[in-house]
Amino acid sequence: MPTTSDFERMLREASLRVTRPRVAVLNAVHTQPHSDTEQLIGAVRRDLGEVSHQAVYDVLHALTAAGLVRRIQPSNSVARYESRVGDNHHHVVCRTCGSIADVDCALGETPCLDASQDHGFSIDEAEVIFWGYCPRCSATHHP
Ligand SMILES: [Zn+2]
Ligand SMILES: [Zn+2]
Repeated sequence: MPTTSDFERMLREASLRVTRPRVAVLNAVHTQPHSDTEQLIGAVRRDLGEVSHQAVYDVLHALTAAGLVRRIQPSNSVARYESRVGDNHHHVVCRTCGSIADVDCALGETPCLDASQDHGFSIDEAEVIFWGYCPRCSATHHP
């Protein structure tokens, strides 16, 4: 697990000023991958005490723009955040409870970026979401 000084270094390397809310949000995203904003606000507050929603939104926006955090938003879900950036991994989402897990690229590296037709676009990300039922929900609802 990265430490506070690792998070401070990541912020500096991304040319972001080191602030306690930024460190706390980075820590929360690393500790609880695929959390939504509400869950992250809860984690940051346990860490720092009272922090406004807006402050956490602003930090998430800055971290996402700097590439330190990846934002994913499956349909019918609020935005979720994770610290696993730059490897173009995919996600599997449960249709019932919305739980999310990471799925590595089936072919390794980032072959999904080699779209069969690029239509002249310069492509830098492929977002693949597998939908289904998590083990807990498939045991309860889909025997
Ligand atoms: Zn489920
Ligand atoms: Zn992920």
